[in-house]
Amino acid sequence: MRFVTKRRILHIFFPTRCPVCGDIIGAMDKFCKSCEEKLNVYDGKFSIAGAESFTAAFEYDDSIKPAIFLMKNGIGGNADYALGSILAERLSAEGINEKIDIIVPAPLHKKDLRRRGFNQSQLIAEEISRILGIPVEAKAVLKTRRTRAQKELDHLKRSLNLKNAFSADGEKLKGKRVLIVDDICTTGSTLRELTAVIKENGAVSVHCACCCKTAKKPLAVSEE
Ligand SMILES: [Zn+2]
Repeated sequence: MRFVTKRRILHIFFPTRCPVCGDIIGAMDKFCKSCEEKLNVYDGKFSIAGAESFTAAFEYDDSIKPAIFLMKNGIGGNADYALGSILAERLSAEGINEKIDIIVPAPLHKKDLRRRGFNQSQLIAEEISRILGIPVEAKAVLKTRRTRAQKELDHLKRSLNLKNAFSADGEKLKGKRVLIVDDICTTGSTLRELTAVIKENGAVSVHCACCCKTAKKPLAVSEE
């Protein structure tokens, strides 16, 4: 069934809701008008060492927080759709869709995946894949070591915490131009480590994208 048809039918039984305020919105809407006006589109400059580009859809602040909460807790069908499709539009506008072959979501350790039941970055990656027509390679990079929550650590410790936490499948990455997708970027240490591992395993280039980028002073968000 076509995606739009599916959403319209679902909407009859489970009306689509704004992932920020909960109001009922149109089947294909992302947010309600009043919440959408308050969202802060990310327009900062940030770079990840080793990566060609960094794209974020929104600044992480109170106006987007409820949608991120729903997404992280797996109760956000429309949060995934809203955040993923806006990030995909942003990537298209920047021409990144022309520069990538595969999409790799930031992985969770298998124990965390089992506990949570889903990987929020993969849900976002799948939305982007649907819109851009570029495949997701969910198993190209695995998180092989459990790490402490990044939010508990300072800048230096965040990097050390992630050392050798990931392993990659060179067969899936060799010669590929990769887009890494994560939900929230705080200091960029997760994306930096993933970029390094992906490049060491034969990717020719890496672009990074996330739904939200925190302001300079990190807020207490989990960057798993
Ligand atoms: Zn709303």
